[in-house]
Amino acid sequence: MIKAVEGSAKPAVVAIHAVAMGGGLELALGAHYRIAAPGAQIALPEVKLDLLPGAGGTQRLPRAVGLETALNMIVSGTPVPSEKLAQTALFDEIAEADLLAAAICFAGQAADRGGPYPKVRDRKIEHPNAEGFIQFARNSVAAVAQHFPAPHECIDAIEKGVKEGFERGLALVQTPESRALRHTFFGERAADKIADVPPDTPVRKIGHIGVVGAGTMGGGIAMNFLNAGLPVVLLETKQDALDRGLATIRRNYEDEAQVKKGKLTQEKVEERMALIHPTLSYADLAQADLIVEAVFEELGVKEQVFRQLDEIAKPGAILASNTSTLDLNKIASFTKLPGDVIGMHFFSPTNVMKLLEAVRGEETAKNVLATVIQLAKKIGKTAVVADVCDGFIGNRMIEQYIRQALFMLEEGALPAQIDRAIEQFGFAMGPFRMSNLAGNDIGWAIRKRRYREQPELHYSRVADRLCEMGCFGQKTGAGWYDYQPGRRDALPSKLVDDMIVAYSKEQGAVRRRIGDEEIVERLVLSLVNEGAKILDEGIAAKASDIDMVYLTGYGFPLWRGGPMLYADTIGLYNVERAMRKYAQQPNGAAWQPAARVSALAASGGRFNA
Ligand code: NAD
Repeated sequence: MIKAVEGSAKPAVVAIHAVAMGGGLELALGAHYRIAAPGAQIALPEVKLDLLPGAGGTQRLPRAVGLETALNMIVSGTPVPSEKLAQTALFDEIAEADLLAAAICFAGQAADRGGPYPKVRDRKIEHPNAEGFIQFARNSVAAVAQHFPAPHECIDAIEKGVKEGFERGLALVQTPESRALRHTFFGERAADKIADVPPDTPVRKIGHIGVVGAGTMGGGIAMNFLNAGLPVVLLETKQDALDRGLATIRRNYEDEAQVKKGKLTQEKVEERMALIHPTLSYADLAQADLIVEAVFEELGVKEQVFRQLDEIAKPGAILASNTSTLDLNKIASFTKLPGDVIGMHFFSPTNVMKLLEAVRGEETAKNVLATVIQLAKKIGKTAVVADVCDGFIGNRMIEQYIRQALFMLEEGALPAQIDRAIEQFGFAMGPFRMSNLAGNDIGWAIRKRRYREQPELHYSRVADRLCEMGCFGQKTGAGWYDYQPGRRDALPSKLVDDMIVAYSKEQGAVRRRIGDEEIVERLVLSLVNEGAKILDEGIAAKASDIDMVYLTGYGFPLWRGGPMLYADTIGLYNVERAMRKYAQQPNGAAWQPAARVSALAASGGRFNA
């Protein structure tokens, strides 16, 4: 289209106001003339998504505004007001008054003069030392854009254009990294599109929040609402628990104020604290439009809470549970209006983790789901919808990943090697550092339940040994690693490493050297296989939802686009082949490929179509 405009026999005049960014600016650069209103924002922001301006921007902009200005704009993506570009050859006129009238008048005059009309592509790029400047730009970018290739490639494309001409510069490459970031960009926007909940579904008004339980999660959840200016009634069973919860919230705010000097002032901290109404009485929750429960993870306790909420909540109030593992449908059944019940599964630490799994029960009303998704946006979360199952999307998958990590300990690896390999792949934190942070006792409790409920499921018990030694992680000063008081560095522990080797021996396992490649493959593909099952069962509606869960809640490397996109990138044929190979090894029973993996491997398809 840009070529057609540029080659047109009639003069093309573009009138620019408000914004001309990305493709809009590239189209404008294809026209013969440009007239802008002052204050219009001009940018090629693609680089922010690790994309290249792919429709000629890298070639035409330097010809319109000069090499230096163009390079700065393209590599930073930052908008520049039109009047600042008035001195360049980008605009033929700045229209102070009526932009449209000025453009029409300009077009008339151009047509009267007759063609051929000027093309930006025909201009020369003038610079006294283009090569030197490009090198300077390259050095500056190298320092800040390590994993993101687009800024480098923008410079390459501009350089090629300068040295070899317009067409050569235009021959751009699309990298897997840029595909991953585009996937993330669209995946995040697709996450709140739910097939049977159209965008015009009415939502309920949420002005007042209730939170039940002021522990780790309850306090964090309350802060998320307070930050958005929503008043929160915070309920506990005992005064001392309530006081502790409030003190933690205050301390977290004060720590944050220390870090974000100037942004979060003491005054703002007080404002937020003043929005909390602490209470021991359920009657105080009667005005809440949404009540989020974050009490102990025991069905009996949840039952007690939901039966009371059912009594006092006002008509139309939404009742949400932050449960990580319990059956939301059962929780909903404790109320008379299960349609008003939903899961809001926040992730710890709630001020850092952007993920919110919106857990949809069998009866959850569509307008309840729509309301929670809209509210998630308001509090800065990425909501992903999950149906009810054990662990929902994220934790159900991570269990398989941890299971593989433990098998590998038994087979020959040590915690530090496994963590290092997957961190080099790009994960924020390896499985053992992560478990130490969350508390090894949490996984232990889950495993104990698994041994009872699914005795046929094979697990390495090496982690149980660690827990029996009292090594619950950072909170006990020892876990898979040792910790020194006041420091968070994970120091390899001889005691634990010896325990692992002794455990292998006891199991009759022949320890072998496990390569980093195998570590990464087994960890990531275990996520892929469980993710595929989650899609097969309809727990997640689309592969990109799973990727969003891993990118926003589990520290999966952003430039790899999530586990499902990663599988697409290496190809499902290769994924399935690796699974079949691991199925032959000790502890191979976990590697039966999911139906969808086999089907896509056979058809040459992808999870993300
Ligand atoms: P926690 O032990 O830190 O806090 C629970 C709080 O609930 C305590 O302060 C307790 O006094 C209070 N409480 C207990 N019974 C109550 C009742 N009947 N009424 C009012 N308050 C009551 O636990 P947590 O880690 O905050 O977990 C809370 C919930 O969040 C659980 O369902 C858990 O599975 C879920 N969750 C936890 C995490 C995590 O990383 N910790 C992450 C996601 C979800």
